[in-house]
Amino acid sequence: MNEASLPYPGDRRRAAALKWSRWSTWYLSLLKVAVGLLLVLLIALLWLLQRNEIDEQRSTLIADVLWLEQSLRFHIEGHADQLQQLALDLARTKSQHELFDLRARHILKNNPEIRQLLWLDEASRAVYGMPTPSLPRVGQEALAENPVKRSVELARLGKPIYSDAYQGSDGAQFEVYVPIFNAGHYRGTLLAVYSLTALLTQQVPWWFAEKYQVRIVDGNGSPLASKSRVDASPTTLSYPVTLDPPGYGMVLQVTAYRGAGNVAQTLIATLIIILAAAVFWSLWAVRGLIKRRLAAEQALRSEYAFRKAMEDSLWVGMRARDLDGRVTYANPAFLQMVGFSAAELIGREPPMPYWAPEEMERTLLLHNKVLEGNAPLEGFEIRLMRKDGSRFDALIYEAPLIDADGTQSGWMGSIIDVTARKEAEEVARQQQEKLQVTARLVTMGEMASTLAHELNQPLAAITSYNAGCLNKLASGNYSAAQLTEALEKLAVQAQRAGRIIRRVHDFVRKSEPRLAPCDLAEVIDDSIGFIEGAAKSRGVRIVREIQGMRPQLMADQVMLQQVLLNLMRNGIEAMSDGPADRRRLTVKLGQLDNQMEIRVVDRGPGIPAEIEEKLFTPLFSTKADGMGMGLSICRSIIEFHHGRLWVEANRDGGSIFFITLPIDRQ
Ligand code: ADP
Repeated sequence: MNEASLPYPGDRRRAAALKWSRWSTWYLSLLKVAVGLLLVLLIALLWLLQRNEIDEQRSTLIADVLWLEQSLRFHIEGHADQLQQLALDLARTKSQHELFDLRARHILKNNPEIRQLLWLDEASRAVYGMPTPSLPRVGQEALAENPVKRSVELARLGKPIYSDAYQGSDGAQFEVYVPIFNAGHYRGTLLAVYSLTALLTQQVPWWFAEKYQVRIVDGNGSPLASKSRVDASPTTLSYPVTLDPPGYGMVLQVTAYRGAGNVAQTLIATLIIILAAAVFWSLWAVRGLIKRRLAAEQALRSEYAFRKAMEDSLWVGMRARDLDGRVTYANPAFLQMVGFSAAELIGREPPMPYWAPEEMERTLLLHNKVLEGNAPLEGFEIRLMRKDGSRFDALIYEAPLIDADGTQSGWMGSIIDVTARKEAEEVARQQQEKLQVTARLVTMGEMASTLAHELNQPLAAITSYNAGCLNKLASGNYSAAQLTEALEKLAVQAQRAGRIIRRVHDFVRKSEPRLAPCDLAEVIDDSIGFIEGAAKSRGVRIVREIQGMRPQLMADQVMLQQVLLNLMRNGIEAMSDGPADRRRLTVKLGQLDNQMEIRVVDRGPGIPAEIEEKLFTPLFSTKADGMGMGLSICRSIIEFHHGRLWVEANRDGGSIFFITLPIDRQ
């Protein structure tokens, strides 16, 4: 939807939230893929690095091992050469002992790995030896095959011979046998005893030992000698190479140590993987969070949509104001009511454009009252102005606006357009009034014959007085006093007729209800005077029990008369068919605390319970020609005077209609 076309900021917010939610889902998936890929690539990179390094280490190891093997071989072969040279020199010289002693001492001194040098004669007996002349492997001569003898035999063939390795006093040892020939004749053998351990100690350089563990193992793989660091642990990276000489399956085995750099690298790799895993995990956690947030937002959106739909469907206007009285929100119903747009109202400060100028002062007063927190709980009515200048009546209820933190952020008012209701009330009031007048006219019509009869009496009297006067005048036999008396009586009758006419006039005149101080006793007397004739014609006696009271109260006299006449007429009609001695209607005035009470008591048949319920409802009548409006109008008149009208059964038979009217109302 085009955001600009959205009329309310709420709609725009909702659209933005929807966009964000879609975007965040995408973003999250992308992020997950990226981090997963990063993790895989990291592991692959580390693996490749490791492999490269292992390959490199392996090549270096092989090169180093070959170098060591070569250097050992050269070294041992160098000794053999030295011994061969000594053998030659021994064959040639006379002073053999001195020569041997000198050279052997020299060789032993420079080559600590050679533990012993022996000169054996043709019979393999030690002629001379350094440091001792005793043969190696003592105790083994008894064996069937003495290894020394066997080696000597082999050496006689002319080449230096190496023995296999064996455990001597100084760890694993081996020997080299070099024959001595003189003019083609075998003259003996030179024998050198090597300590393998010493050989490694002497010949393996320190830097080599730092990097590798060097071992010499026999054909079965059991170690013969080794040179290793105490503190290091070897890896699986190892390379064996045959050690020849001396041969006999002896193998030089070199194993690389786990380098410090290697440990650091492993540590870094481990850390990288842990960190990547942590990133992945936190992403997972964030995903959970975002999911929860999205769910909450979704719930909020639904809630908002629900609330919005509710607000939009409301016909009650809603208008929020902050604590300074600035309009912060107005619902569509209110906007429609006043005819302004949201943009024209939001942010406006008092005076508002919808305040009617003629009510400005009162509106401002009420506005301030609301802001002070003194808005009337039952709401208040006020006249407001639409944008087109027309006015309408509004009923407003104000309530504090509490935000999410529980603090008051302003006021929310609900506004109801009561113009139609007020108009309807006015129409109803006018109709009621018309009805009352009509009812009065009807009453009057009903009493017309009685009134005509009543009026007839004074008129007849006037006519007879008039005729009497004329007769007297015609006879000439009259005194002024006589005429005066007759004319005075005539005047009394004329006044009586006039009173009847005035009463009728007063009673039927159409006027708005007018409250004025009035005397209840007078109202009762007037009403009795009015209906007395009708009562008489039905043989009903009206008893007046006022006991000299003259209570004054604010009322519409004609209306009260209408009520009394109606009640008295009903009573008279109710008794007209009853026995003549029971036809008595009592009108009683009394006072109860701060209210006056009028009782209209008849002795008719009374009112059955099922009728009593409907008695005051309009159009209810049991009479063939009855309108059924009388009692309903009576009750509304009494309620207009803030009094009550009800009926009770008379214990003496008949009914008692009660009217109470408050005295102290102004
Ligand atoms: P209407 O007199 O035109 O019938 P009202 O409203 O004055 O209308 O009276 C309604 C009905 O109440 C009467 O029809 C009558 O049945 C009954 N009613 C009123 N007053 C009395 C009374 N004093 N005794 C018995 N019935 C009464």
